[in-house]
Amino acid sequence: MRLDHLSKSFGSVAVLDDIRLDIAPGEFIAFLGPSGCGKSTLLRMIAGLETVETGQIHIGERRVDPLPPGDRGVAMVFQHYALYPHMTIFENMAFGLRNAKVPKAEIEARVAEAARILEIERFLKSKPGQLSGGQRQRVAIGRAIVKKPDLFLFDEPLSNLDAALRMRTRLELAQLRRRVQATMILVTHDQVEAMTLADRIVVMSDRRIQQVGTPMEIYARPANRFVATFVGSPP
Ligand code: ADP
Ligand code: MG
Repeated sequence: MRLDHLSKSFGSVAVLDDIRLDIAPGEFIAFLGPSGCGKSTLLRMIAGLETVETGQIHIGERRVDPLPPGDRGVAMVFQHYALYPHMTIFENMAFGLRNAKVPKAEIEARVAEAARILEIERFLKSKPGQLSGGQRQRVAIGRAIVKKPDLFLFDEPLSNLDAALRMRTRLELAQLRRRVQATMILVTHDQVEAMTLADRIVVMSDRRIQQVGTPMEIYARPANRFVATFVGSPP
């Protein structure tokens, strides 16, 4: 996929300036940068939740920036997982598929498969209130998996979890990318998260991409002082 000269302002405030990036099919990319640098805005533009003012977004060969979110083959997992509290876990995962008029048997098969991948089969009849934070976050990831997207977008999916759960969910994300065939983009302000999960890291600050590289390249050869300080490279 390709991000082509993307810029974005809110009113008179510019938040993204000329973002350009090529992403290979199946690649796991982390956008890493401090709070407020525009990571969520960029992800929401890819998902179709924010308008694109200048530039284009292609996913595969398809230009998607004029398309509504549901037609982009994208599924997004948010930091605040926002499950429907009155619905069972099964219903939470099936909801988007029902709206998309996916046949009942197909919905059941997809939910069962996602539940198996995430090891949440035993919660399918429970309500979100009966689950821990980590379990709820797995349901939110399951809700994305059942859509069978070409592209997964994760917006700080671990930042609401305590340290032990964060580690576990991080390992699950690493497994997930081996089990589903899809491109993954993770947004995070956490250097360790980016370093341990991503094939390539895109370091952002000050509205721009500062550096793109493998975790080792970024760490060993930071492009500038900001990157060096932010990822904690040795002097
Ligand atoms: P990050 O996810 O990297 O923390 P965001 O993309 O959330 O950054 O925000 C980037 C900048 O855009 C911030 O200064 C934020 O206040 C501003 N911003 C984000 N969304 C809006 C909005 N809907 N209206 C106005 N300003 C916004
Ligand atoms: Mg954000």
